[in-house]
Amino acid sequence: MNKYRFHRPVMTGEVCRCLAHRSDGIYVDCTVGGGGHARALFLVLSGKARLVGIDRDPDALDAARGWLDPFRSRLTLIQGSFSDIDRILDSLQITQVSGILCDLGVSSRQLDTPHRGFSFREDGPLDMRMDPGQTLSAGQVINTFPERELADILYRYGEERKSRRIARSIVRYREKKPVETTGELAGIIRRALGWSRGKIDPATRSFQAIRIFVNHELEELRNALEKVPALLEPGGKIVILSYHSLEDRQVKTFFRGDSRLVVETKKPILTGNNEIKENPRSRSARLRVARKAPVPEGEKP
Ligand code: SAH
Repeated sequence: MNKYRFHRPVMTGEVCRCLAHRSDGIYVDCTVGGGGHARALFLVLSGKARLVGIDRDPDALDAARGWLDPFRSRLTLIQGSFSDIDRILDSLQITQVSGILCDLGVSSRQLDTPHRGFSFREDGPLDMRMDPGQTLSAGQVINTFPERELADILYRYGEERKSRRIARSIVRYREKKPVETTGELAGIIRRALGWSRGKIDPATRSFQAIRIFVNHELEELRNALEKVPALLEPGGKIVILSYHSLEDRQVKTFFRGDSRLVVETKKPILTGNNEIKENPRSRSARLRVARKAPVPEGEKP
């Protein structure tokens, strides 16, 4: 059986190589998930290194706590949004860190647990909240948002060209009864667009869009990115794994535009064929790295 029952981490070797430049530093894993990357980092760092792991999903933190138990004396796990990274570090009296990792999106565990409502392959409630304490769920979006807004969400976050047609079908359906499950929603989308077996499921893009919207994923990323440069020590690294073009574009543009950062990956690092064979979900991953520029001589305190 796969030793990562929770989530198989992507490009682990590359992540460690790019991030762990100082063996006794403090590192932040903004998306600790089941702790796969975090464990790999502990293994390459020295016994003096420390890691702060953030996740907004309490289920992920429970898994990470178990998986990272051998390193518990050097680990702090925090439930929260990574856009709060500055406040989280402040509460731990940490001012600057050696490296920050963001492995964006959802974990395999979240996708594969039907009752979390992320999957269009298995039926579950229309939920999709990474943080179960959040109020807004996919069900509310699908059942209460105006047709126009639904179409905009599908277009903007799923790059779905047939967004209007899908939004119209959802609204027609919900006039009779609310859309309650992921299976119902997937069925509505497949009927609206037509689905030939063997082709990519037409529900893929819409599910991605709703998930991104419900979890404010792009806003989270934007807010976190703005905070990162000030939190890195000179030479400190930021490593981001993203899984769709909207995120990747945001990361690329931010890295290029911030004068405090030096881009280390002109082109993103992609997953190798062997890894894709072993872990098909790693297929769309793009890894980008930047480091904090040294403080210019004249400005040193
Ligand atoms: N690298 C992890 C897997 C990460 S999957 C591993 O090796 O196991 C992505 C994780 O990020 C999920 O658990 C999800 O809940 C979390 N997440 C996504 N967006 C977040 C955000 N804005 N703040 C905190 N956690 C987030």
